[in-house]
Amino acid sequence: MRQTQEYWSNLATHLEIMNRAFIDGRWHDAHDGATFPCVSPIDGRELTQVARCGHPEVELAVRSARKCFESGAWSALEPRARKRVLLRWAELVSEHADELALLETLDTGKPIADTTVTDIPSSAYCISWFAEAIDKAAGEVAPTAQHLLGLVTHEPLGVVAAVVPWNFPALIAVWKCAPALTCGNSVVLKPSEKSPLSALRLAQLALEAGLPAGALNVVPGFGDVGQALATHHDVDCIAFTGSTAVGRKIARYAAESNLKRVWLELGGKSPQLVLPDCPDLDRAAQTVARAIFYNTGQMCTASSRLLIHREIKHDFIERVLAAAGSYAPGHPLSPETKMGSMIDASQVGRVLSYIERGQMDATLLTGGRRALTKSGGEYVEPTVFDCPHPDIAIAREEIFGPVLAVLTFDTIDEAVALANDSEYGLAASVWSANLTTAHTTARRLRAGTVWVNGYEETDDMNFPFGGFKESGNGRDNSLHALDKYTELKSTIIRLT
Ligand code: NAP
Ligand code: MG
Repeated sequence: MRQTQEYWSNLATHLEIMNRAFIDGRWHDAHDGATFPCVSPIDGRELTQVARCGHPEVELAVRSARKCFESGAWSALEPRARKRVLLRWAELVSEHADELALLETLDTGKPIADTTVTDIPSSAYCISWFAEAIDKAAGEVAPTAQHLLGLVTHEPLGVVAAVVPWNFPALIAVWKCAPALTCGNSVVLKPSEKSPLSALRLAQLALEAGLPAGALNVVPGFGDVGQALATHHDVDCIAFTGSTAVGRKIARYAAESNLKRVWLELGGKSPQLVLPDCPDLDRAAQTVARAIFYNTGQMCTASSRLLIHREIKHDFIERVLAAAGSYAPGHPLSPETKMGSMIDASQVGRVLSYIERGQMDATLLTGGRRALTKSGGEYVEPTVFDCPHPDIAIAREEIFGPVLAVLTFDTIDEAVALANDSEYGLAASVWSANLTTAHTTARRLRAGTVWVNGYEETDDMNFPFGGFKESGNGRDNSLHALDKYTELKSTIIRLT
């Protein structure tokens, strides 16, 4: 049953908010008592003050993770026992779904309709999906000489640091923690200072599910905490999701410290190619709108470029603008709201400055302003620009906001060239009723995920997620994610 706004507002007044670091299974204040305000972008209200971790907390957390790893309390546990713990964790996440969804909405301004349907259920699903893999993923016996027995095994790395952004705080944290824990590693998780709340509650639930103390630690704080983890000599791997600029730094930190494994999920400027034989213009237009206005466009996979064939341009844009109308910003706790607030004032400022540049370089078709200005929150209208050519900032750079850049093409070759003319390569889609055209075009697109006649169609964990080019390396989700968190070991036994 869908709950009312009153239900959520009432629940919010009773919500217990965890606001300290979670290290070695216990709550910790920062060594110097430092805190930072956690502000809701819904209305500018301070939700709580959160412990601001520094180097001493990073040290404690890494030491606790290492101790747990060396003890074998998690890493050497029988696979089926580890599976039971992670399945219980997934169950607890589902049992606390309302509370977690509300925390996420208050912290980020995401619509409650999204956090209850996607963020939290998909997090529980991800944990259980990896849990179920624990006692299925086997090693190999090598086909080697008769006098030898050769084993190829997957060994956990040790201590994995996960540094995650604010656009899907719970889900992206789980995308890292679940496979890393599945493989027997210990984890130190650094949520964004803009959205630390759900990670803290998730870690508490993991302990309740039976995860040993130290297997999952959470150190809220600013970028210096991420840097301390990325430069730490006793961290074996850093799994990062965030901007390409910070991703570059992480790679450097690793190179300059202990050459820890680095996995980067970075930005995007993903295109949708709508060909004249698009099978359903209305569905395509609604999908184009959803792909840029969902989560206020604060998506690495946001489809921020629409490439439209000149023949159908006028008709199609009318439909996209009509679909954009249903994303007028609303109160995130209202179950009717499809687009909530942006994450904070600085992100609004960034988006508005792009819109200002857009107004000089292109034609504004709708939106372009702040919305709900009396709320005290951070709202921006769904915005669409018709762009004269691809070499303008709004058509090239990742805005991370509800701003769609429309580009026009005449031939498929031109559309593919436009699509691939980007430093990013995270996602793309092709709309065509012709199977051959769709397949041959999809094959030419340099992107980690390509949809045909759709976009963001499923949270199915079977699909690897990540990017080509400067969108990063490595893949979250799917069994391939397990490769990120294990080393291959060859053991060769001489028999005779
Ligand atoms: P961000 O500024 O790169 O921050 C990501 C994380 O890194 C945060 O926890 C941040 O901490 C931390 N950090 C900042 N400076 C650091 C440093 N010098 N060393 C180590 N860690 C540091 O990204 P964001 O603004 O949170 O998120 C938006 C970006 O994430 C977009 O570019 C988007 O495309 C990308 N993204 C990519 C994916 C994907 O899967 N490819 C998914 C979602 C988002 P603080 O926030 O506390 O400073
Ligand atoms: Mg917040």
